[in-house]
Amino acid sequence: MSTEEKPIGVAVLGFGNVGSQVVRIIEESAQDLAARIGAPLVLRGIGVRRVADDRGVPVDMLTDDIDELVSRDDVDIVVELMGPVEPARKAILTALEQGKSVVTANKALMAVSTGELAQAAEHAHVDLYFEAAVAGAIPVIRPLTQSLAGDTVIRVAGIVNGTTNYILSEMDSTGADYTAALADASALGYAEADPTADVEGYDAAAKAAILASIAFHTRVTADDVYREGITKVTPADFVSARALGCTIKLLAICERLTTDEGQQRVSARVYPALVPLTHPLASVNGAFNAVVVEAEAAGRLMFYGQGAGGAPTASAVMGDLVMAARNRVQGGRGPRESKYAKLPISPIGFIPTRYYVSMNVADRPGVLSAVAAEFGKREVSIAEVRQEGMVDPEGQRCGARIVVVTHQATDAALSETVEALADLDVVEGINSVLRLEGTSE
Ligand code: NAP
Repeated sequence: MSTEEKPIGVAVLGFGNVGSQVVRIIEESAQDLAARIGAPLVLRGIGVRRVADDRGVPVDMLTDDIDELVSRDDVDIVVELMGPVEPARKAILTALEQGKSVVTANKALMAVSTGELAQAAEHAHVDLYFEAAVAGAIPVIRPLTQSLAGDTVIRVAGIVNGTTNYILSEMDSTGADYTAALADASALGYAEADPTADVEGYDAAAKAAILASIAFHTRVTADDVYREGITKVTPADFVSARALGCTIKLLAICERLTTDEGQQRVSARVYPALVPLTHPLASVNGAFNAVVVEAEAAGRLMFYGQGAGGAPTASAVMGDLVMAARNRVQGGRGPRESKYAKLPISPIGFIPTRYYVSMNVADRPGVLSAVAAEFGKREVSIAEVRQEGMVDPEGQRCGARIVVVTHQATDAALSETVEALADLDVVEGINSVLRLEGTSE
């Protein structure tokens, strides 16, 4: 063991859920970490907003002067765990410009500023690692950037937001509606006071942008990701999904597509989708995350585990920290980000998917053929139709519900069909339009 090497100085920015766990591991595992790295890791300071002596660490370790901490000569690696895009972006840029390696868990920042940060890291010949930004403890960034560096990734599809997965799992298993399942998630600490970023799919979209960028060697930002949240999913959708042998999951999907002209494109999208119960993602329940990667030579790989939480996320951060520290001890740096492919991003309208459309219709003859005709006019082929009679609270028949499942069609053709259906006299309302993923028909 060569722990007589010059120590590696670490600044941790943020002492919340994740930062406090990172500090704990650095201290509790100091000896093992030193042996693995070949030099001791020494914590130089912790950046916070509130400097006080009741925080479980010596008060002189804490500072609210982030700039000063990051710029200290004895800091070699900055671990950013504060959260918002700013001041994290500025702190990371300052660190990189001064030749410090950076580890961050900040998905919001990495989904908008990777280009700028990666360039700064490149320029300074230092590492910028962000394994914890996607799916907490689950190793997915490193497998994509390193283990699969010689393969061609075709698809990355995953459940990357634990809050929404908990809500959807609850709706599925208890029959609860969205509002009740959200309240349950909040009571258990799985949903934040303002759950918008999770339930509207922004968090998953940020992660999809990061995954697509890495998988397809192309710069993809959160704005490039098509996004729908889970707020409109109803208990009736789960009943229909079950009848079709499916459940409903919020999926982040990143895909390499080839157009009819042979041009390669990237699609990145987030939406709730029906997933067959036989698909590996269907059994990922509660706050867990999972990512399925399909590569040309490797075939299908699945990564599963805790996608959030202080200690699990700290595990991913520590992995990055050890890698960055080893690189510094050995006088090199890890693999650089690669964006050479520069594939165009495909608009959602071109994406072929299967659909599930649920609508309330008049309970009279000829309705089914009128509905089917609208699909036929736009060459959206129907795979399955289910019709259910509906009853009012007095037990009287009051119309019918039709559920249509299509074969593959483009989003544009389906959107047109849905608009036309909504205009039909016999259609009283479109209840839901969801995609069906995980089947090949
Ligand atoms: P958190 O519990 O809210 O902690 C944030 C920490 O950053 C606090 O210690 C806070 O200081 C400090 N901070 C915030 N703004 C600051 C500022 N302007 N100047 C100085 N310090 C500042 O957050 P977290 O849950 O640990 O998350 C940290 C990062 O990890 C985020 O980017 C998050 O997206 C990412 N992440 C979190 C999880 C998770 O499960 N929690 C999972 C994956 C990724 P005070 O303590 O003084 O308020």
